[in-house]
Parts: sequence; structure tokens; C-alpha cells
Amino acid sequence: MKDIDEVTRHLPAILDAVAEACRVTRHVQGEPGRIEKHSKDDHSPVTIADYAAQAVVAHRLAALSAPMLMVGEEDAATLREPASAALRAAVTAAARVAWPEAGDDAVLDAIDRGNHDASAAAYWTLDPIDGTKGFLRGGQYAVSLALIVEGEVVFGVLGCPNLSADFGRAFDARDDHGSLLYALRGHGAFSVPADAPATRPSAVHTSAEPDVTRMRVCESVEAAHSRLDDTARIVAHLGATGTPARLDSQCKYAVVARGQADAYLRLPTRRDYVEKIWDHAAGKLVAEEAGAVVSDIHGRALDFGHGAGLSANRGVICATPACHEAILRAIEDLRLFAD
Ligand code: AMP
Ligand code: MG
Repeated sequence: MKDIDEVTRHLPAILDAVAEACRVTRHVQGEPGRIEKHSKDDHSPVTIADYAAQAVVAHRLAALSAPMLMVGEEDAATLREPASAALRAAVTAAARVAWPEAGDDAVLDAIDRGNHDASAAAYWTLDPIDGTKGFLRGGQYAVSLALIVEGEVVFGVLGCPNLSADFGRAFDARDDHGSLLYALRGHGAFSVPADAPATRPSAVHTSAEPDVTRMRVCESVEAAHSRLDDTARIVAHLGATGTPARLDSQCKYAVVARGQADAYLRLPTRRDYVEKIWDHAAGKLVAEEAGAVVSDIHGRALDFGHGAGLSANRGVICATPACHEAILRAIEDLRLFAD
């Protein structure tokens, strides 16, 4: 896959791949005792659904008539260990929800299709469950897939199995359908139900609220991922009165894209943390194509030309144009990241 024309040709199959991965994650969530949490080497959580969803998306993409390289968040090294037989079997069983003929070896090989190192001119990046903590707590999470060509995100899909089409619903309430948002660079952003991706898509647009004091903000649930106290200072500095909504995953980009919030702030908690491309590629494109401005905390465009990490950036500000400008000004006024 190397350009938008190829994506357009395969669009129904690609959306279906992400929707099927959503079906797998939802199935695992519905099985009592099935969402086991395992810790990766970096102590972040991973479940059988993370592995199974990566296997399903990689398997589906590999079946398209186009070469495929992928930078996936997960790899099968742990699953291949002799001691992991039970975990391996559980992952294969979960993958079979969407890939009935799957066997252990095919599943492991599909997961390891995600082992590309981001050095090629064109590659996919996949986070099979972005916001695993949200998945574990029954809140928001996203299956996030994007295509990067020459350092630019040209296509992105966010499968959000728990993001309701009804804006009135709480973010931690269960939803039976979910939403799938996608965007093609220069062609807009769209939404379909996550459980019916062939439905006629609706165009997605950010809010047109010009008054920054009415700004609705969203941010991480995890205090380790974003400086929540500084979000509150920025909101107060701008005279906005609302309480920030907290939700996990790139669903934050989705809620800004569809006008349910005006800004998503991700304020670095650590000097040395480098954001991962799979945590931002799809979300950033969906938000931009819907009308949002996305940059880092210093106003620099997110730079996807540095491999698997956004090493030229710090944090993220995704907001409507008016709010984005005001937030960057507030960060400067308050000298928040002047170090
Ligand atoms: P969120 O659900 O928006 O809080 O973000 C979840 C993502 O945060 C995970 O996919 C991790 O890759 C990423 N993450 C892990 N540690 C950090 C950190 N210290 N700062 C920012 N993001 C992090
Ligand atoms: Mg993630």
C-alpha cells in the first residue's frame, strides 16, 4: 500500500478489518474471566485481546493485493515462549471470532507482521488496543490503524467499540455499537457504526464554537500520561469554566473531531517520554480532516518522519483553531514548559 488511490480501492476491506478487530475485543470483554492482564517488559498492560486484534488486522491487510509492512505495538515474542502455551491458545481462540480457520502458528506470524521498524517509505502503524487501561476498566479504547507515506499520515482509522453515536452518553458507559471514524488526507473525516462499517458514512466536523470561555476540554484518565493539574491551570487562565472530560485512548481525538469536545490536551509528565506513532497517527488525521489543528505543546506539527517515535515533539494539543491558538498562548503565558 503506498498511496491514497490504493487505500480508496481497498477502503471497504480496510474498514472491515478494523471493525472485525473491534468485534474480537468486544467478544473478549464479554467473556467473564477472559480479560486477563499481562505485563509487558515496560510494565504496560497487554491482554489476549491486544494480541488477537493485531493478528486479525494484520491477517486481513496481508490478504489485500498490495505489499504490506506494519509497525504494530505488539509482537509475538512472549507468546512464542514454551511457558506461554495457555496464553497462546487463548489468543488463537479470540482471533477465531473473526478468523475462524486461524491456528497458533498463523496467529503468531500475523502478529509479527507488525515488526517493521518504520524505515520504509510507506508502512502501516497499528495499535490493536490503544488505551488498554480503558479496555480493562470498561471505558474507552480504540483499534487504531494508519498509513504513513514519506513521513506523512495519509489515512487513518479509529475503531472505537465503546464510543456511542449518542453524545449524551457518559464515556464510561457501555455502548452496544460503537463508532468507527476514518479520514483520508485532503478528503475529510467520516464516521460509521463500528458494528456496521458498510453503512453510508456521515461526514465528521469539529465544533464551530468561537468562544474560548465555553471550551470543553478532554484529557487522559491516567495522571502518568498527561499533567492534569496543568490542564486545569490552562482552562482557568482562559476563563473557561467546564470540567475536563477524562477518557482513555485516541477516542479523545475522535471526540474533538466530531465536535463533542473543543480541545484534547496531552501535557508531558516526563522530559524523556517519546510519544509513539501508533498512539497518534490515526487520531491526528481524523481530527485534522474534521477541522481541528494538531500540534505539540510548542506549536510544532507532529513529525512522523523519525521512525516509531515522535522524537521531534513534546506532548499534543488537538483543538478547534480558536481554542488551539488560545491554548498555545496560555502555555506560553503560564511558562508551563519553558524548561
Ligand atoms: P491515554 O489513554 O491517552 O492516557 O494514552 C494511552 C497511551 O499512553 C498508551 O498507549 C501508552 O503508549 C502511552 N503512554 C505510556 N506512558 C506514557 C507517558 N509517560 N506519557 C504519555 N503517554 C504515555
Ligand atoms: Mg496505545
